Amino acid sequence: MSRKDTATTLRQPAELVAHGLASIEQLAGLEQVAARYAVAVTPDIAALIDPDDPDDPIARQFIPTSAELAMQPGERADPIGDQTHSPVSGIVHRYPDRVLFKLVHVCAVYCRFCFRRETVGPGKDSGLSDTAYRAALDYIRAKPAIWEVILTGGDPLMLSPRRLAEIMSDLAAIDHLGIIRLHTRVPVADPARISAELVSALRVTGATTWVALHANHARELTASARAACARLIDSGIPMVSQSVLLRGVNDDVATLEALMRAFVESRIKPYYLHHGDLAPGTAHLRTTLAHGQELMRSLRGRVSGLCQPDYVLDIPGGHGKSPIGPSYVEQANSCVDDRDRPQETRYCVTDYCGDVHLYPPGP
Ligand code: SF4
Repeated sequence: MSRKDTATTLRQPAELVAHGLASIEQLAGLEQVAARYAVAVTPDIAALIDPDDPDDPIARQFIPTSAELAMQPGERADPIGDQTHSPVSGIVHRYPDRVLFKLVHVCAVYCRFCFRRETVGPGKDSGLSDTAYRAALDYIRAKPAIWEVILTGGDPLMLSPRRLAEIMSDLAAIDHLGIIRLHTRVPVADPARISAELVSALRVTGATTWVALHANHARELTASARAACARLIDSGIPMVSQSVLLRGVNDDVATLEALMRAFVESRIKPYYLHHGDLAPGTAHLRTTLAHGQELMRSLRGRVSGLCQPDYVLDIPGGHGKSPIGPSYVEQANSCVDDRDRPQETRYCVTDYCGDVHLYPPGP
């Protein structure tokens, strides 16, 4: 197959075929997938895909496959329980000091593993009405414990700079809010969208803005993507990363290492490595928890702390996020045969090479 460049976002399976990103034999299956879950591949993402590689890690993230039609036991439409914790439209309030604020239901690209795939995309939920937006702001205003608002959705950077400036200023005017964090894939999917006007819209007085970039493979951090992030960071906005552990995309230590190094080189602190959520039709992209822990252990041995994300699981049903990385400390009586002092409780600490060392019990 040879890929044909595109100047516009590809949204139809027939367009994917016409541009060499899927075969004609796949078309009927892809039409069925696209009728259920949104498809969008921006020109920047299309340009990263090698059509001659059947296992291309970028294609696996964005080009639909008929495997998405197979739902597995345990998969659910709302895998992390957003609905259970939504007191008013647009708000998810799971932890005392922070809320998600879902402003939009569209994204620049649609990830095949998306945990909100039942609600994002054209024809799914609609954006917030003005009345619902005002009610959501009132909810945040009425809860002094809320220190951080996380703008998500959908992708908040799909909003116009003018609208973003209004929202940022509405939020920054709430006294008890300290942090406004935006989660986005736009700097990699459509870097040109990070314009001077958009950057300026995100800078407010009265709250600190953070941006979390979602990327899963070092190839996504192109020169243009890095430049887009630099425009945000140079303006004073700190950035963190979030990635999803995905089978056939980044589930080997060399790929994860390259991704984390690419973030740090771009001045983005690795923050989260999510275990894949139980979203419908995504089993072909998930790994096991044991494999994820093994990868984290290997990563620890290869790169500095600056490059270490937290490996986390959103517990199905809306019970929040838990760190699920390997443990490096345990009670001594379970890890060594220390016959000299068998009664004394001590700790065994494992170093980055896998060697075990005793540590005393008290100060
Ligand atoms: S950008 Fe985020 S919300 Fe949008 S499809 Fe990808 S994972 Fe889902």
